[in-house]
Amino acid sequence: MTFKLFYIDPYLREASAKVEDVEVRGNRIRVLLDKTIFYPEGGGQPSDRGVIKGDSFRIEVEKVEGKDEIWHEGKLKGRIPKEGEEVELELDWEWRYENMRQHTGQHILSAILKRMYNSDTTGFQIFPEYNKIEINFDEELTWEHILAAELEANEVVWTNIPVEVEEYEELPEEVSSALRKSLPKDISGKIRVVKIGDVDLIPCGGTHVKNTGEVGFIKVLNFYRKTKNIWRIEFACGYRALIYLNKLLEDYWESLDKMPNKNRPLIERVEELKQELKNIEKEKVELRRELWEWKGKALLSNADESDGIKVVSYIESMDMKDAQAFIVYLVDKNPNTVVLAVGKNYVIFAKNKNTKGIRMNELLREVLKEVGGGGGGSEILAKGGGFKKTPEEVLEVARRILKEKLKS
Ligand SMILES: [Zn+2]
Repeated sequence: MTFKLFYIDPYLREASAKVEDVEVRGNRIRVLLDKTIFYPEGGGQPSDRGVIKGDSFRIEVEKVEGKDEIWHEGKLKGRIPKEGEEVELELDWEWRYENMRQHTGQHILSAILKRMYNSDTTGFQIFPEYNKIEINFDEELTWEHILAAELEANEVVWTNIPVEVEEYEELPEEVSSALRKSLPKDISGKIRVVKIGDVDLIPCGGTHVKNTGEVGFIKVLNFYRKTKNIWRIEFACGYRALIYLNKLLEDYWESLDKMPNKNRPLIERVEELKQELKNIEKEKVELRRELWEWKGKALLSNADESDGIKVVSYIESMDMKDAQAFIVYLVDKNPNTVVLAVGKNYVIFAKNKNTKGIRMNELLREVLKEVGGGGGGSEILAKGGGFKKTPEEVLEVARRILKEKLKS
């Protein structure tokens, strides 16, 4: 059983302890201590980091886990520590203190969400840059709801209320009936209850700051629906909130600086760009129509005519998708027309649907028989590719076979 110094004093940054057990895997080591200031991962709070050191060795602690026996895992430099040896413990205090601020901030925010909207917090996790809670909320959660709760929560922070921890062997009725969340059924040993004035009372095994003022600031960053009535809220407290907001601001000012007009607000500049894109898109469609019209006229003036059917045949330079759009437009506008177009690696055969006596899929099949490759389609539009000959040769074959078919 490891004695938990972090419960006696969560502000303890250094201590000595005795090694009780050691496991080594390569240059990684796990040590069990008789007492520790390192908080093991649990209850949404990540495990502590820091250093365990002794005579001629040093362990960079990266992971701490366990309930009764607390194991400290990390990279070993120097010799392997021995069982029974005294070691010095040193916390990465900035990491731990920020986690304490985030954790206490979560108590406050969750308590306010319960009070204002009767929402229970069903999940909590601290990440290195922000925190996440999950709450139940039956209607549509809006920024209005969120900002109202955030303000209330910050009032609690700024009032600087003491955060008190009581340990009980068994919960008195007046405590158990006032808890925000009932006690987990599988709890063993002493019950720790965290009280923040008349704001919050809840069983919790994490580490907390002494006064709400130390949380500094609670900022909700984002929220979204997870399932029908479960919402995720992302927030940050203290120094991490400041870092997060600074990154957002940097992003904001850099984005604004990239705009042709650099005046706030950014959203108006974005709307302007969107409108401009729309205009360009419209212009593009008009120009394309005009191009198609001229291209169609030029191709039709060079078309062969056989048995009252105009045959447009040419080498196409556009990619297949654009070529097909143009060809469909061309045959739709011109009755009794067939188009044979060959691109770098494709063929498109199309006809106006009123053109009788010829089927495009049949024509394609016969052409591919001579030039190789594959493809298919319908009576009015057929496409293929993978042929072994040059586009010019493929076009010659297509012209010849079509002519034969139209004669017969
Ligand atoms: Zn807690």
